[in-house]
Amino acid sequence: MSWKPGLPSHDENEWFARRDAEWLKEQRARLDAERAAREAAMHCPRCKTELGHRPYKDVSLDYCPNCHGVWLDAGELAMLAHESERNLLRIAKELDGSGRMV
Ligand SMILES: [Zn+2]
Repeated sequence: MSWKPGLPSHDENEWFARRDAEWLKEQRARLDAERAAREAAMHCPRCKTELGHRPYKDVSLDYCPNCHGVWLDAGELAMLAHESERNLLRIAKELDGSGRMV
């Protein structure tokens, strides 16, 4: 054996390498799962219909084409608050199905 005191043995190196490889594999799987969850279609919390996206300026409105609920991400309500009442009414009517955006 060429193992010297104070240095990891060949077996130890292998053990660490295997542990690192497993850790990397787990991290990769976790990140992939997180990405898949992020990219998966969101569903309406009320009726489970797949949500549609309606970009409006810098805001992405998630709306339900079935029950016409609208969901906002954190911070988006504050962004919409800067819109004029007229614009808000226009987009609201489009999303609740009572009007069509031209
Ligand atoms: Zn719905």
